[in-house]
Amino acid sequence: MSAQIIDGKAVAAKVRDQVAVKVAEMKEKHNYTPGLATVLVGEDPASATYVRSKQRMCERLGIRSVGHTLPADASQEDVESLVSQLNADPEVNGILVQLPLPKHLDEEAVLNSISLEKDVDGFHPVNIGRLAMKGREPLFIPCTPHGCMVLLEDAGVETSGAEAVIVGRSNIVGLPMAMLLQKANATVTICHSRTKDLVEHLKRADIVVAAIGIPEMIKGDMLKPGTAVIDVGINRVDDPEAKRGYRLVGDVDYDSAAEVAGAITPVPGGVGPMTIAMLMQNTLRAAEIAISKQ
Ligand code: NDP
Repeated sequence: MSAQIIDGKAVAAKVRDQVAVKVAEMKEKHNYTPGLATVLVGEDPASATYVRSKQRMCERLGIRSVGHTLPADASQEDVESLVSQLNADPEVNGILVQLPLPKHLDEEAVLNSISLEKDVDGFHPVNIGRLAMKGREPLFIPCTPHGCMVLLEDAGVETSGAEAVIVGRSNIVGLPMAMLLQKANATVTICHSRTKDLVEHLKRADIVVAAIGIPEMIKGDMLKPGTAVIDVGINRVDDPEAKRGYRLVGDVDYDSAAEVAGAITPVPGGVGPMTIAMLMQNTLRAAEIAISKQ
């Protein structure tokens, strides 16, 4: 069997085009430009790259972006006072605090301080709480898991009644992904580093979401034939033949998994491009909320 390839680049482009059209309409109808503020604490090169690419995408779609960088030794008060300034700024619709924060900072307190209506990352405990509860809807859904749901939908994967296995339970990917899939009526199993027999769970999964951070850990022979595989992992592995000396691989061994799966996301070009696209969509939504309150 050869799996359907779920093309995250194409789906993300579709989402971005829709956002750009709505941003242009908003300017025309309401003379209003959505704004995203990014907060970077310290100079971690990977975080700085993520922030830059988010800012560049804002520019491409007509969203205003304002970058704030604080030194690595910024105090809790420095970070929270910047967030409260941004909470009060009417030109800022979304606030994105780039994680992880330096270890001396209390991440939970920082995320709590973001106004619920500007929480475009969807990590505020009230938004996460609403995601977990039956009959409640969060204002914003965390971007990476939301992107995974859009990919499943676009690929025509039925979630209702499906056995879904999520490998990984992080606050930013695994856990919200599990909550989204159960909201979409899947029967959800969350696996993690203490799971006794991962393969036993994987073998009965109609949907597998891998968010582990271990290169190519899940092999084709661990999967049920026909399963839909969403590979969130982004890992660098040395490759002397590659121009940069490394290549990116997922948490799933793509070649062997594609032989068994019914559908699969590649790495790169699967979930990766969806994360920023969903952030843009959330920023637009934050601006719509602001306009509705004017
Ligand atoms: P974390 O390190 O926060 O979480 C990893 C999870 O995997 C943990 O729950 C851990 O279990 C579990 N785990 C570790 N080892 C095993 C194992 N042997 N068997 C089963 N489960 C295991 O990672 P993140 O969720 O932040 O990221 C996961 C991956 O996704 C990374 O490769 C990251 O780069 C990528 N990523 C990609 C994004 C994108 O835009 N595409 C966005 C965010 C992340 P335990 O809880 O027991 O420790």
